[in-house]
Amino acid sequence: MIESQPLTGARAERFLLERYEKVRRDLEARKVPIGKVEKIRFNPRLRSTMGRCARKGERFEIEINPTMADASRIQMIDDVIAHELIHTIHNCQNHSTRFRNWMNYVNSVLPGYCVRVYFHYEDYGLENPRKQVGIEDYPYLLECENCHAQIGRMRRSAVVDHPERYRCIHCHGRLIRIR
Ligand SMILES: [Zn+2]
Ligand SMILES: [Zn+2]
Repeated sequence: MIESQPLTGARAERFLLERYEKVRRDLEARKVPIGKVEKIRFNPRLRSTMGRCARKGERFEIEINPTMADASRIQMIDDVIAHELIHTIHNCQNHSTRFRNWMNYVNSVLPGYCVRVYFHYEDYGLENPRKQVGIEDYPYLLECENCHAQIGRMRRSAVVDHPERYRCIHCHGRLIRIR
């Protein structure tokens, strides 16, 4: 698993624009006939969908799932943006044969890409951020000696290895590792 590096606000917006410009350049360099994009943004209302492409007259608006506002998710966000850009090609607004042919073309001429019809976090070795995890699911567990608040961790990290260096966020008490 890759450590997550979530971005917010202006940094998230800049990250999205950077990825968008890169993917657009890559597709145009291979003569993929993508359409005009009026706007691209993160939409927090997207839940299980990774991206969406809506037609506005002759132009398109792309929305991306904000769970991808994360520097550790470059491969996934690039593939999702490429998928949405393929939707801007003439007669590619659904996942028709024509859409799939362009998708296969992109994947074959741009080896850095693995565009899919459906995206799953697991395909990228990422944890699904929408999956509910209970405290019993964490392989590592820390507890505050004072208020007994528990902190679960999926991976080893500085706080797992050295809980004595950290303090409880609720009461500033000492942390101990109990699992
Ligand atoms: Zn699609
Ligand atoms: Zn505490």
